[in-house]
Amino acid sequence: MKPLPLAFRQIHLDFHTSEQIPGVGRRFSAERFVRTLQEARVNSVTCFSKCHHGMIYHDTRFDARHPYLEVNLLKEQVEACHAAGIRVPIYISVGLDEHMARQHPEWVEVTAEGKLRGAPLQAAWRKLCLNSPYVEYVSEQTQEVLSMFETDGLFFDIIHQGQCCCRWCIAGMREEGLNPEVEADRQAFARGVLARLKLRFAEEIRAVNQECLIFWNSGHVEPGIRPVLHTYSHLELESLPSGGWGYDHFPLTVRYARNLGLDHLGMTGKFQKTWAGFGEFKNQPALEYECFTSLAEGSKVSVGDQLHPDGELTAATYQLIGSVYRQVEAREPWCADALAVTELAIFNPEALGVQDGRVDTSAGGAYRMLLEAHYQFDLVDAEMDWSRYRVLVLPDKIRLDAALAGKLREYLAAGGKVIASHESGLAPDRDEFVLEELGVRLLGEARYSPDFVAAGSELAEGVLPSEHVMYDRGLEVEAVGGARALAEVWHPYFNRTWEHFCSHRHTPAEKRSDFPAVVGTENTVYFAHPLFASHMRSGVRTYKLLFLNALRRFLPDPLVETDAPTTAHVTLMRQEQEGRTVAHLLHYIPEQRYREIQTIEDVIPLYNVALTVRLQAEPRRAYLAPEGTELPVTWSGGQARVTVPEVRGHAMVVFE
Ligand SMILES: [Zn+2]
Repeated sequence: MKPLPLAFRQIHLDFHTSEQIPGVGRRFSAERFVRTLQEARVNSVTCFSKCHHGMIYHDTRFDARHPYLEVNLLKEQVEACHAAGIRVPIYISVGLDEHMARQHPEWVEVTAEGKLRGAPLQAAWRKLCLNSPYVEYVSEQTQEVLSMFETDGLFFDIIHQGQCCCRWCIAGMREEGLNPEVEADRQAFARGVLARLKLRFAEEIRAVNQECLIFWNSGHVEPGIRPVLHTYSHLELESLPSGGWGYDHFPLTVRYARNLGLDHLGMTGKFQKTWAGFGEFKNQPALEYECFTSLAEGSKVSVGDQLHPDGELTAATYQLIGSVYRQVEAREPWCADALAVTELAIFNPEALGVQDGRVDTSAGGAYRMLLEAHYQFDLVDAEMDWSRYRVLVLPDKIRLDAALAGKLREYLAAGGKVIASHESGLAPDRDEFVLEELGVRLLGEARYSPDFVAAGSELAEGVLPSEHVMYDRGLEVEAVGGARALAEVWHPYFNRTWEHFCSHRHTPAEKRSDFPAVVGTENTVYFAHPLFASHMRSGVRTYKLLFLNALRRFLPDPLVETDAPTTAHVTLMRQEQEGRTVAHLLHYIPEQRYREIQTIEDVIPLYNVALTVRLQAEPRRAYLAPEGTELPVTWSGGQARVTVPEVRGHAMVVFE
């Protein structure tokens, strides 16, 4: 059975409350709880059964009921919210449970060095092994929740498993023929532990409740969940920009997650920094940006908060959230059932397990270049359908096995274009290009680094006529099979070593080399340097221009053209049933003003923004939503042109 669409305006209400805090829930009033949520226009609130401390916040047959809980809290929350039409998915902490870790230290994960994960003297959570008998307890506790409450959904948190070497994991690895001494084997076993947990729990849950939402949270959504995707009812993209995820994480991740066929939401927090920031209130423009970005990417919205131990919602928090959720509510009619309209895609390094973080540096570099130039794009893996993309970007480290090379060949044969850089296009197990269509042969590592690039005429637009330093070492290649050099490598006098160096930094360019920096064919462009990661690290505008100039060869007629600055984000969403395309313009500017945080304090409006959108058919009208202000629209050559008089943070231009 297909679950209901997700609620648009959600709260994730953390409640990890020390067992030493008295008077838990003493100020809780079901009536005030609901009224506060309603006034803030919240229509779903995720409430707690069991927290990281292992405490349970309702009557239970287990010995983990919070010792100072003064009300049957979850029951009252569920009943009161349901009476008011507010959904209550139920939270169960899985990977962290201090109560159980204390009673059963043998259930705590053990590292390969024999240490327990998490230390009692460091005020740090201990991580339970999800292959230990602890899982039986979580299973039984989940069943109690399902039997006790009208359950809209289950949110299982901390779905992580380290390379555990506890006795159950060692035994399990031996049973599966894995070698506990080999890191890759320990990782493979840990992945299997998580998959088995999800499959087992989903089956147990579905045996008694076919409809409730199920989500497994690990703080990130990536291709590794594919084999057990059917155990998820939807996806929640936890991403607190100020809490370690950064402002690039959600927009990049959702461009992958939204193509997995499930409803999805973006989850930020109301905190200045991260979870459990009591007495913290994010600046309203930042909260607006984070919530409207979800809408602009086709997601629903969830804001994280933490309930005070006394059970009373903080009025100021809901004043803040309400000020944004009222605006979200007004925008929803133009956001429901909207699908992204895209023209190109970045291949996700996570699909090959070669990412260097939650925001991979190379994918992040490609993302920033495309975002700032207002292209419409997704992040894809090998299993997705590429036929709707005109160009596929393989950033820096997409090595190709036979299947992936075959799929790329088919994609190119069907008229697709490919832009690759650095190691992308090489075989996984040897340094040899396996996609001959790229027109390059590998000679070896670049002999100099840093070296320099001089753009040929086709890539030169906007680039100062000079040699430009490339900070990161590239590959030495030659163009073959009729491919051409689009840019050339210049060599310095020498590499900077103890034997010879020049001045403070890298050695200057001496002469043009015989090697291409960029190679082009009719359907492909190859960059010999790790252009995308270099750009993400150093922000050299020339790198971006080289890429965008190459892209223009293949996409001379992008979906969106605008004179908005690089700080503006533009996304196109299609509501097929309403027969309309909605262009979202976002203009909020996160700044690194302070040591520990990126912040947004002001909304800086843009005026008279020219916006041209390529559409299938001439629109009857264009207007600003939700205001309804008509915009004069001109139509020619398949493009609708409007001028947006003002973008104050977020504007939606509707072509109907
Ligand atoms: Zn274990």
